[in-house]
Amino acid sequence: MMLVCDMPAARLLAGFGHYTSDAHPCSMCKTRKSNFNHALDPEKLVPRTNKEHRQMAQAWLSAQTEDERKILYDENGVRWSELLRLDYWDVVQNTVIDPMHGFYLGICRRHCRQIWGMNASAKDCDGLWEMPTPSEEDQAAAKHVYQHGSSSTFNALKAESIRFLALEEGFDYRRNKKDLLDLLKQSAVLGIEMLTEVRKDMEKLNIPSWMAAAPNHPGEASHGKLTADQWRTLCTVNLPITLIRLWGSRPKDDRYHWMLQNFMHLVTALRLASMRTMTEEYIQRFETHMQTYLGEIIGFGQENPKAALYPHTTLTVYQHTMLHFGNLLRRFGPVHSWRCFAFEQFNYILQNIPTNSRFGTHRFEIRHAF
Ligand SMILES: [Zn+2]
Repeated sequence: MMLVCDMPAARLLAGFGHYTSDAHPCSMCKTRKSNFNHALDPEKLVPRTNKEHRQMAQAWLSAQTEDERKILYDENGVRWSELLRLDYWDVVQNTVIDPMHGFYLGICRRHCRQIWGMNASAKDCDGLWEMPTPSEEDQAAAKHVYQHGSSSTFNALKAESIRFLALEEGFDYRRNKKDLLDLLKQSAVLGIEMLTEVRKDMEKLNIPSWMAAAPNHPGEASHGKLTADQWRTLCTVNLPITLIRLWGSRPKDDRYHWMLQNFMHLVTALRLASMRTMTEEYIQRFETHMQTYLGEIIGFGQENPKAALYPHTTLTVYQHTMLHFGNLLRRFGPVHSWRCFAFEQFNYILQNIPTNSRFGTHRFEIRHAF
C-alpha cells in the first residue's frame, strides 16, 4: 500500500527526517545532502530498511524526555508515526516519490529556472556563467590568506578568489552559492532571445485539447508560478521543438549541442517513466537516460571538474531521488495510478472557489447565515 503525497507531507506522515536536512534528506537511502554530487552510482547507495526504520521509530517513541528524542532524531532522522501501527506496511518501500512533483515541479522547474536561469529580461548566454579569473595580485593574496590567514580574513575573500583556490587545490568549487546565484540572475540560457524563439514556435503549434498549454510568455514575472502540467508541456513539447530547431544542427563538440543532448536525456527519461504500460526494458532505459542526464550536469565520474556541463550546480533532493525511481516503477507499474495529479486537481477546484481570503471567519458566516 502506497503513501502518495508531496515530499514534505510524505516525510512527516511516515516519520522521516525533513528533506532539506543535510543528514537525512532521502527516505530510501542514507546519502547525505552534501554528498549528492558524489553519489550517482545506485549500486553504491546504502539503502534504508523497514526493519531498521521501525527500530529507530520505536526507540524515539520510548524515549523518556524531549531532549532524548531530539538526540535520537538528529542521529537517525526518524520519528514515530501512527502509520507504523500497520505491522505489514513497509515504510521505506511504500513511501513513494510522487512523479507529478518530482518530474515537473522538481526536475523540469529546476532545469529551466535554476540551471538555465529562465528569465525573459535576462540576456542570453551559454549557461557557464564563468566567474572572472582573479588578477595575479589577487591570486597571490588569496594564497597567502589560505596559508596564513584567519578564518575571518578567509571568509572575506572574493568569491572568485575562493573558487580559484578550490580549483588549485583540486576541491569541489561549487559551494559559493550566493555569489554564483547573483551572477546567474544577469544572464540565462533561456534569456530574452531564446524565449522569443520559443514563443514564435508556440504560436504556430496546435496542441491537443487535453494538454495544458504552457504560458504564452514563459519566463515573465507576470505569469507567476507554472503548474506541473504547464512545466510538463513546456519541457517535453515546446522546448524540444525550439531547441532542436536552433541547436540540433550545430557541430557535435559544440556546447549548445551538448546542452540539447543532455536535456533530451531528461525528456526521454520522463517520457519513458510516463508510459501507460511499464516494462523492464522501459525501466532500464529510463535509468540509463536519467543517470546520464544527472551525471553530465555535474561531471560525475570525471577527474576534471571542468568536464561538468553546469559546474555551478549541485544536485537537489528530487534529482537524487530519481536514482530510486526505477525501483518504484518496478514495484508499482505505470505512474498514472499512483501520482498526485488526480488528488491535486481537487486542490485546484478548491482554490477556484471564491472566498474572502480570510481564515477563521467562515464558520462564523455559516452560523450567521443559518
Ligand atoms: Zn537516496
